[in-house]
Amino acid sequence: MALTTSVAGAKLIASSLYDLGVRVVFGIVGIPVIEVADACIERGIRFISFRNEQSASYAATAYGYLTGRPGVCLVVGGPGVLHAIAGIGNSTHNCFPLLLLGGSSESHQVYKGAFQEIDQVSTLTPFTKFAGRPASISLLPSTIEKAYRLAYYGRPGATYIDLPADYIQGRVDPSETQQLYPASAAPKIAADASRVKKAAQLIRNAELPLVIIGKGAAYGQAEGAIRELIDKSSLPFLPTPMGKGVVPDSSPLNFAAARSAILRTSDVILLLGGRLNWILHYGEPPKFKEGVKIIQVDIASEEIGNNNSGNVEYGLVGDIQLVTQQLSAELQDYRFSSIPSALIETREKNLAASETKANRTAMPLTYQHSYKIIKDAIRATKTKVIYISEGANTMDIARSAFDVEEPRQRLDAGTMATMGVGIGYAIAAAAACPDHLPVCIEGDSAFGFSAMELETATRSNLPMAIFVMNNNGVYHGVEPTAYSATYGNPLPSTALGFETRYDLIAEAVGGKGFVARTATELKMAATDALRNRAVTVVNVIIDPGAKTKLEFGWLASTKKKPPSK
Ligand code: ADP
Ligand code: MG
Repeated sequence: MALTTSVAGAKLIASSLYDLGVRVVFGIVGIPVIEVADACIERGIRFISFRNEQSASYAATAYGYLTGRPGVCLVVGGPGVLHAIAGIGNSTHNCFPLLLLGGSSESHQVYKGAFQEIDQVSTLTPFTKFAGRPASISLLPSTIEKAYRLAYYGRPGATYIDLPADYIQGRVDPSETQQLYPASAAPKIAADASRVKKAAQLIRNAELPLVIIGKGAAYGQAEGAIRELIDKSSLPFLPTPMGKGVVPDSSPLNFAAARSAILRTSDVILLLGGRLNWILHYGEPPKFKEGVKIIQVDIASEEIGNNNSGNVEYGLVGDIQLVTQQLSAELQDYRFSSIPSALIETREKNLAASETKANRTAMPLTYQHSYKIIKDAIRATKTKVIYISEGANTMDIARSAFDVEEPRQRLDAGTMATMGVGIGYAIAAAAACPDHLPVCIEGDSAFGFSAMELETATRSNLPMAIFVMNNNGVYHGVEPTAYSATYGNPLPSTALGFETRYDLIAEAVGGKGFVARTATELKMAATDALRNRAVTVVNVIIDPGAKTKLEFGWLASTKKKPPSK
């Protein structure tokens, strides 16, 4: 009797995800998760089937960042889970919510050396907010619900669920399982009111207050509250690379073009959703002013005081949206109006210098001029864009070249400076925001990490415009003569193939490809890529920059020399 009303484990997993509100799952199938993916498709969940779990897991993290709900990734056990650990790392380090589902061997064969068996729960426990295996088929829904919730409640991160083959194939009476409901927004906490008062006082008394907007503010969808605070108080601000667009880059209060100067001189900083790691030079002099007071707003109290122990008393623990509203209320009648004219001049000077570089025509093409052409094409075609950027120089230069006006419209290599996220991120962006076109500004090396995912994109009808900045190398290339056997072999470790036809990879998988060596070719290709909304690769042949010295300015140590003994 029970058998007639029973439901397959695979279907139970799919309906659990569906009931929670999941509509897209990223992954790769194999034994034993094919039935799970097929049940998802049957239930009305889009399953985006990748070529490598690493990209699939990266895509799920970006989907989590863009939507504010965990991205879900489904993989096989053993090697599948190992590849997807890249996504777990990405999720944890960037604070993007991710739920990873991994197939595993039959529960009665555990520890016997079963097919693709590793102890995934033990392996992942140290690296996730929660990793578990439901104790029975009937506990699948409640365990999935817990893992889904834990991934995005509090500080977002990664969770893992093990799906044994016998659960997937087994059957259960649905009346024995927990009913699930659409997952709602994570509960928010506001900050301690007395600390908010103190922070507001600090801002009022500051000579040069500055707001730094991090990707936590973008993830927390706090743009409304932050825009209101900045508008009313006229506080100057700086976005971090992924904090761009929370307040439009075009705002006159944006001092990104005088970043070093304002960081060096501000005496009070309101840090909204950013960590004082390498991206913010650890908050230390000489990049930051000696004795600067940093009011750090973060959802994780554990973050307060990191590289900032002198400022612990100013930390505000809470959701950025709520805390910003609290601060706004305390700063009702406050308006900052004394931005030093020297700062404004520095900004004008730097902007003019970038413009000169961008307008400079050269053969081969430069990064700056290429970006200007792409930008003009975006403007001319009125394309709504999500920028995705990775690579060293490619990403560094693109960061300031492309203005971002809306939040969550720029994804990059992030906290771990991970190369290889680009195409997975673009797939996630196309799936999450179908009215936007992902525009990827990719270094040739970075692109190589996940180029095969172009096939995922074409097969899944997810359009994107990919510009591969091809300088034949990691950081920079070598002189063309270096490729001949008589000169310079072996090639340096940074060299890649000479003028590799990345555009043909797009053509091979049903997309479109262009090679652009000149401004005219690039303009035509960019316009086509933006208008036609295919999966397009524009192979932009740029100066190999072989004579450029490798510089790591972004990483330059800001630490003062330790005192000699
Ligand atoms: P960036 O790279 O832009 O500097 P980070 O990733 O270093 O940003 O920091 C983001 C921070 O934002 C994390 O410490 C995270 O805990 C925090 N955060 C995420 N969501 C929220 C939120 N809704 N409210 C407050 N803080 C948040
Ligand atoms: Mg390169």
